[in-house]
Amino acid sequence: MNIPMLDLRAQHATIAAEVESAISAVLQSQQLILGPEVRELERELAEYCSSSEAISCASGSDALLLALMAYGIGQGDEVVSTPYTFFATAGAIVRLGARPVFVDIDPVSFNLNADLLEKAITSRTRAIMPIYLYGQCAEMSDINKIAARHNIPVIEDAAQAIGAEHKGTRAGSLGAIGCFSFYPSKNLGGAGDGGLMTTSDPEIADRLRILRAHGAKKKYYHDVVGLNSRLDSLQAAILRVKFRHLDDWMSARRSNAARYRELFGKTGLLSSGRVSVPQECSGQFHVYNQFVLRVTDRDKLRAQMKEKGIGTEVYYPVPMHLQPCFANLGYKQGDFPESERAANESLAIPIYPELGAEAQRYIVDVISSFYER
Ligand SMILES: *Cc1c(COP(=O)(O)O)cnc(C)c1O
Repeated sequence: MNIPMLDLRAQHATIAAEVESAISAVLQSQQLILGPEVRELERELAEYCSSSEAISCASGSDALLLALMAYGIGQGDEVVSTPYTFFATAGAIVRLGARPVFVDIDPVSFNLNADLLEKAITSRTRAIMPIYLYGQCAEMSDINKIAARHNIPVIEDAAQAIGAEHKGTRAGSLGAIGCFSFYPSKNLGGAGDGGLMTTSDPEIADRLRILRAHGAKKKYYHDVVGLNSRLDSLQAAILRVKFRHLDDWMSARRSNAARYRELFGKTGLLSSGRVSVPQECSGQFHVYNQFVLRVTDRDKLRAQMKEKGIGTEVYYPVPMHLQPCFANLGYKQGDFPESERAANESLAIPIYPELGAEAQRYIVDVISSFYER
C-alpha cells in the first residue's frame, strides 16, 4: 500500500469540473484582485464562523500579523501565546517588534494551558493569542474570562480549525479577531496561499480592510502604513467551490478519527502506554485538521511506517522557545516541559477525508506490529 500523509489529488478529482468552471469564469471576467468572488467568499465565511464580518488577505500568517497591527501592537508590547505551534504565530509577534511571552500547553489538548495564563500577564501584555492546534479550540471560556479581567483582546489562531466549536460557539467568533489560513493542507485549502480574519467589531473590521490595502481607505490616500495582503479572485472562486464541501469533508475527518480510536482500542497499544490517540476535550467540537498520536520510539516507528508506504509528519519538532531565531528572548531547554515533550513524542498520521477504512486498518496494523517486535 502507498498512503500519503495528505492526498489532495484524490480530493481534486471529486470537484475538478466545478473548480475548472469557477476558474474559467474569473478569467473571463478579468476581475483578478478582490472583486465579487472575494466579497461573496467573505460573506459566506463570516456567516459560517458566526461573525458579522470577514476580511480576506494573502495568507494565514498575514492574518495574524494584520490582527496584531489592528491593535497597534509593536515595540515594547508583550503578546502571550504557546511555544508548541507553527512558526507564524510567534513570527507575527516578533515581526512587529513585540515580545512573545510563552505559556506551556495542556498535554491532552496540546493547547494553551489556561491555568498558567494569568501568571504570564504583565502590565505590558497587549494581546493573548491561543492556537487551536490540530483542529480543536483552546479552553476559550477560561481564557476569555482572564482576558476580560485584564481588558486584553484575544486573537484566535484558528488556522487549523475552521468549523471547530467551543461550547457551541464557532472558531472565529470566540475572540476579538479570528485568523484563518487557506494553505492547501488546511481543512478549507485553496490552490495556493490565502487567509482570512473574522470579527464582529465594525471598527476593527474597518481597520483590517485598510491595513490589508497599504493603509489606504481611499485609493492613493494613506492614513497608516499597511501591507499589500489581498486575496486573489481565482483563489476565492476555488475556495467557494470547496466551501460547499467543507462540512462533508469535516464529517469524513471526524469519522476517520472515530475509526482510528476504535482500531487502536482493539490493539492494546493504548493500555500499554506506547501510543495515545488525540482526545476531543469536554465542550469541544474537533475538526481534525491533523490526527496526532503520542508514541514511544517515534523516529524508529516513523521510519518503519515510511518503509511500509505510510506518510507521516512530525508537528512540530522544535518548539518556538528553542528556535535559533528567538534565542534573544532568553528561554532555555526545560522552560516549557509539556511543549518539549509533545515535540518529542508527536506523530501525525493520515486523516484526510478520502482515506478510507482499509487504509486505516493497514496503518494501525503496521503500528501494532512495530511494537510487537
Ligand atoms: C497554517 C498555519 C498558520 C499560517 O498560515 P499560512 O496561510 O501558511 O501563512 C498559522 N498558524 C497555524 C497554527 C497554522 O497551522
